[in-house]
Amino acid sequence: MKRFTKITSSIGPNSEGREVLQQMIEAGVNVCRLNFSHDVGDAQGKKIDIIREYSAKTGRPVAVLVDLQGPKHRIGNFETEDRFPIVPGQKFVFDSDPTPGNSNRVQLPDMDVIKSLKPGDRVLLNDGKIEMKVEKVNSDSIEATVVRGTEIWSRRGFNLPDTEVATSVLTAKDRADLEYALTKNPDYVAISFVQKPEDVIETREFITARTSHPVKIIAKIERPQAVEKIESIIDVADGIMIARGDLAVEVSFEKVPAISRRIIRLCRERNKPVIMATQMLGSMVNSDFPTRAEISDIATAAYLHVDSTMTSEETTISANPPFVVETMAKVLQNADQDSIENGQDWSDAEDLPENDWALSVTVMAELNNAAAIVVFSESTVPATLIACRRPDVPVFAIAREDVVANQLCLSRGVHSKCDAEMFASKDAIAAAKWFGLESGILVIVDGEKISLRKLG
Ligand code: PEP
Repeated sequence: MKRFTKITSSIGPNSEGREVLQQMIEAGVNVCRLNFSHDVGDAQGKKIDIIREYSAKTGRPVAVLVDLQGPKHRIGNFETEDRFPIVPGQKFVFDSDPTPGNSNRVQLPDMDVIKSLKPGDRVLLNDGKIEMKVEKVNSDSIEATVVRGTEIWSRRGFNLPDTEVATSVLTAKDRADLEYALTKNPDYVAISFVQKPEDVIETREFITARTSHPVKIIAKIERPQAVEKIESIIDVADGIMIARGDLAVEVSFEKVPAISRRIIRLCRERNKPVIMATQMLGSMVNSDFPTRAEISDIATAAYLHVDSTMTSEETTISANPPFVVETMAKVLQNADQDSIENGQDWSDAEDLPENDWALSVTVMAELNNAAAIVVFSESTVPATLIACRRPDVPVFAIAREDVVANQLCLSRGVHSKCDAEMFASKDAIAAAKWFGLESGILVIVDGEKISLRKLG
């Protein structure tokens, strides 16, 4: 119970086998992220089946998060696999012609985006290493000037940081992937390149038209347009992922820490879970040992009181994904304990509602030196509200439905269990014992009723 910050791990080629996936969960994974930019359909469905079988066998909930690719733009192919030289000041054209590209032009397969571009907008390619400025927008091409960069080659990412793109947040591929994913009852769906609250609303409508399963939506924040509307996006989403990879391309990278900090604070104030993502243990793709900077990044996320940190390639293509998870868990546990023992809360959450119900529960736990808070959680709401007040003791959430227990796997400090009998009996002592607690005061929350019991 020493770790409060949760771990979301991407599952890929080196972590999708039954045995390794189980080892990862045992090492500390709380949320499995299935990235539909890579595998789709049954290849992903098989992973979901393994996770569900594990939960059914062990009684241990694990959340399944389906991450949709979203409108990620790429340029087309070049005449050879070689890199083609470009020089600052030269003209470069993006057009609809599938003929392989060269140093002067290339196809932009998704031409729809050009309708949103205007002269003066920046275009960033290859993770921001190439910058161009749009000079002229024609009906089927864009003329640009190279500002920065020395070479260009096939299939580089194409980011438009200055442009609100007028297309739907769900591409045709996302719609097909989501149709499939919904047949597997995921706990969370993450949407990429969100720009505005309407993107979340559109996705929710798509989901509710197809299933009554209460899927929660995570908005990935990676565009400056989303940062501008962050409060209203948090209000309509069920959670946020700070997708630092594309965010660092689209806003200047040095702004990412301040933006992240603000998002974490706003999520806490608005009672929504937040995931810190990307390159947290990136060096472990090729190494058994994390860099000092990575250790510090993970610990800082814990001190900032995020709900979850995330692994990406380090658990999809590294040689030993369970070891990566173990490493992250160790760093988080140390930071979480220090945070509690020495009162280190760096989140700056200021706008917390005073005298609210969830705050009273945490204050009651504090004043009574409680060992845990036990919540009988009909939905995710009560346990999430309490978790967002960041109590110093674990929250044991007893749910009646699997989906509630699974979704609570993302919330900081919440340990959930689906047990209809325990839920019906409201036996908080049995619940605390199930989570391994031997003694101490319990704050018990059952609907509006809050009470105290002594265990042991
Ligand atoms: C990111 O850009 O940081 C991210 C998480 O998105 P993806 O891995 O889907 O590109």
